[in-house]
Amino acid sequence: MSAALPASMRAVPIDWAKVRDDFPILRRKVHGKPLVYLDSANTSQKPRQVIEAVDEFYREHNANVSRAVHQLSEEATALYEGARTAMAGFLGAGHRDEIVLTSGTTMATNLVAYSFLLPRLKPGDAVLVTAMEHHADIVPWQLLCKLTGAHLKVAPIRESGELIVEKFVAALTPEVKFAGVVHVSNVLGTINPVKELARECRRRGIPLLVDGSQAAPHLPLDVKSLGCDFYCVTGHKMCGPTGTGALWARRELLDAMPPFFGGGEMIRTVSFEGTTFADAPRKFEAGTPNIAGFAGLAAAVEYLSGIGMDRIAARERELLDYATPRLLAVRGLRIFGTAPEKAAVISFLIDGVHAHDLATLLDHEGVAVRSGHHCAHPLMQFYGVAATCRASLAFYNTEAEIDAFVDAIGRVRKLLA
Ligand code: PLP
Repeated sequence: MSAALPASMRAVPIDWAKVRDDFPILRRKVHGKPLVYLDSANTSQKPRQVIEAVDEFYREHNANVSRAVHQLSEEATALYEGARTAMAGFLGAGHRDEIVLTSGTTMATNLVAYSFLLPRLKPGDAVLVTAMEHHADIVPWQLLCKLTGAHLKVAPIRESGELIVEKFVAALTPEVKFAGVVHVSNVLGTINPVKELARECRRRGIPLLVDGSQAAPHLPLDVKSLGCDFYCVTGHKMCGPTGTGALWARRELLDAMPPFFGGGEMIRTVSFEGTTFADAPRKFEAGTPNIAGFAGLAAAVEYLSGIGMDRIAARERELLDYATPRLLAVRGLRIFGTAPEKAAVISFLIDGVHAHDLATLLDHEGVAVRSGHHCAHPLMQFYGVAATCRASLAFYNTEAEIDAFVDAIGRVRKLLA
């Protein structure tokens, strides 16, 4: 399975209204108004194919994985391992054993922090991140810095929300032992040039982790050609269930890394004198996983791949191009994040209106947007604001919903004026 469709199929037009029908929740009303869900960067909605896969798991296959020889356990194991295979194909991994199944990106970055980086850091060393990182790609490294005496370095961004690549490269000095970069910013939508950043890191022997949480749901991916060392994704943002995700890492790195936490499933032998561990990736998957969730994640990957990530990216670009000028036409509205390479995430504020008030009143109009710091405090500090509103679009949104959103902003403005 691959996220990119063959050229012959890319020409076949998609009936986006039919695709939208796959999402039962989009038919509901909120406060008596049709739901306009513009919070997919927070968590995406789930198509019936995913909901049915989770339901079917509990109805037909429920058992623990890899522990029993009975039929149900074999089926559960096959579904769980199927998610690994599906994710390997979706990300373009060289081998399915390069995929560690995790509870999400946060678990993945912490795994890399404690298993890979902690043994490598010493006082005076540094970890490089960018000014647009999510807390999941800041706080784990900060915790390690506290433990080791290393420090964090931050590559700056422009007002437009673009990374200043030459400053990132200049910051790759010998004390930098690791770098973390978000592929697509959850606040600004900026798509970072990770291939170029990975090349520069590699040239200097600096391992690079890419936070792909907001890229995997929206862009075709091929981790091998990106050239990074670690790539993290979270299932619930890509039409899958919450509590699922994956870490991709080069096989030689995973083989050399010690387990992060211990328990059942991840061992070869245990005695009170000592324990030997299973091979990667199982040595990182202690305990009973979210098996039903991974059955759903495999269905999500199949669903997205069936549409084709290139078509999803193109459709979302259309929606972004439709929404942006209409929002900019609203008096006093400012958009944060105007990079030309941008995913369909629009953070904004309206002069004199608090982000939370706006989001609360929009909710009463049936429009779900997120307001707050979006787990990116440093980015809010960069722009000198406490919070923004964020409308994040997905392929199941429509132009009519964007019109309803802009109209609702107009009504809310009048109320707040
Ligand atoms: N990184 C980015 C860019 C995100 O947008 C998010 C979620 O909002 C995360 C990391 C964390 O994902 P999770 O909470 O699913 O681990």
